[in-house]
Amino acid sequence: MAGFTVAIVGRPNVGKSTLFNRLLEQRKAIVDDFSGVTRDRQYGVADWNGKTFNVIDTGGFVVGSDDIFEREIRKQVIVAMNEANVILFMCDVTTGITDLDASMADQLRRTDKPVYVVVNKVDNSERLLDATEFYSLGFERTFFLSSITGSGTGELLDDVVTHYNDEVDEVSPEDEGIPKIAIIGQPNVGKSSLLNALVGEERNIVSDIAGTTRDTIHTRYKLFQKDFILIDTAGIRRKSKVHEDLEFYSVIRAIRAVDEADVCMLLLDAEKGITAQDLSIFSLAARKGKGVVVLVNKWDLVEDKETNSVRDYEKELKNRMAPFVDVPIIFTSVPEKQRIFKAIEMALQVAENRKKKVPTSKLNDVMLKAIESFKPPVVRGTPIKIKYVTQLPTYTPAFAFFANLPDDIKQPYKNYLENQLRSHFDFQGVPIKIFFRKK
Ligand code: GDP
Ligand code: GDP
Repeated sequence: MAGFTVAIVGRPNVGKSTLFNRLLEQRKAIVDDFSGVTRDRQYGVADWNGKTFNVIDTGGFVVGSDDIFEREIRKQVIVAMNEANVILFMCDVTTGITDLDASMADQLRRTDKPVYVVVNKVDNSERLLDATEFYSLGFERTFFLSSITGSGTGELLDDVVTHYNDEVDEVSPEDEGIPKIAIIGQPNVGKSSLLNALVGEERNIVSDIAGTTRDTIHTRYKLFQKDFILIDTAGIRRKSKVHEDLEFYSVIRAIRAVDEADVCMLLLDAEKGITAQDLSIFSLAARKGKGVVVLVNKWDLVEDKETNSVRDYEKELKNRMAPFVDVPIIFTSVPEKQRIFKAIEMALQVAENRKKKVPTSKLNDVMLKAIESFKPPVVRGTPIKIKYVTQLPTYTPAFAFFANLPDDIKQPYKNYLENQLRSHFDFQGVPIKIFFRKK
């Protein structure tokens, strides 16, 4: 399911970020560094038995007077109730139920979404006895665990992922197979302006796909004889007390939009360049196998555009985007209507590239020649031989190379094969997976 999201809420020091890190393991978190009075909030992608889901650690360390503190925590709970599919309400067995726990519990009782009371720091069996106190909060689901040792997390996750299929994707049959393009980027880069400029002409709009529960708006369009769905994350302003918390929402929405999309149009502000957060979203999209087009917007504001400025800008950008650099970069200006339709055309092309299946005979013709002209190395006196390659029947491009010593083929040669694939078959904007198998 697209965008299944688990939020961890709780007072400071109960162990939220410890659990978060455990769930993510080696994966990289996206840290929201805008959050002001609260500690950095973290976002990431976790995996449990092959089911991947988004995790939000809503933070918790709050500086300020007691009332600011309370207000911030309440805000975090509201955000979690709005944005997540499942809420983990974390408490600490060593302190027992505090006043703040009790008031958060009151707040959480108002949601229909599954709320798990997660009693943390249950490191041993004595503490397990103390932990039973938390049943008195009256939630249907109460779990005990130790985030430090990891005990109890498996049971919790087994239960959490049972909600995975609760929410069915709201794709109607006639929208099936139509490319979905998400417009993402930080606040103020020009997402809404782009959308309005692209589709200002009402006649292009085929239908609005109503989505009252969504964080994203899906609208179906037709341009250049092609149907597509734009996923817009910009236009939504929630009628809640937390609407000022723009950056927080914008990151969660971006993550969700990436999940729902086939291709992401990542907008940057030409004057600001690519930020650490843009890069996190970019690599997230790549990891999830999504197509990407980068738009350097507000190009009109860049002064003294010399002959080489586009090339230099692009080079600089690709240095930061490495290793995934076979990505279209388009320099746009919304008020001057520069290249904005080209951007859409490019996104549609990337959607095509992502679905591409190269016939096996052609693939072998080309790739075996490439392998012949630059052979894999010899290991322990035995030459590595790649005999056959096939594209896997996966949703996004993946290739299996059959070899005598598949485990001995290292990253540099893998990069070579990827570059060869990219130079012979157009996979621009699309992440490619390469596997080696025993022949
Ligand atoms: P957060 O403020 O809720 O994110 O809490 P942290 O994850 O920063 O944890 C607060 C403190 O509790 C840290 O010193 C952790 O090492 C400790 N802690 C977290 N989980 C456990 C646990 O399962 N057992 C014990 N004994 N300590 C823990
Ligand atoms: P969003 O938050 O990403 O949806 O950004 P908006 O579409 O609201 O744009 C933020 C501001 O940037 C507005 O004042 C726009 O008029 C302006 N803007 C958007 N695109 C461009 C552009 O290409 N060039 C210039 N100069 N301004 C732009």
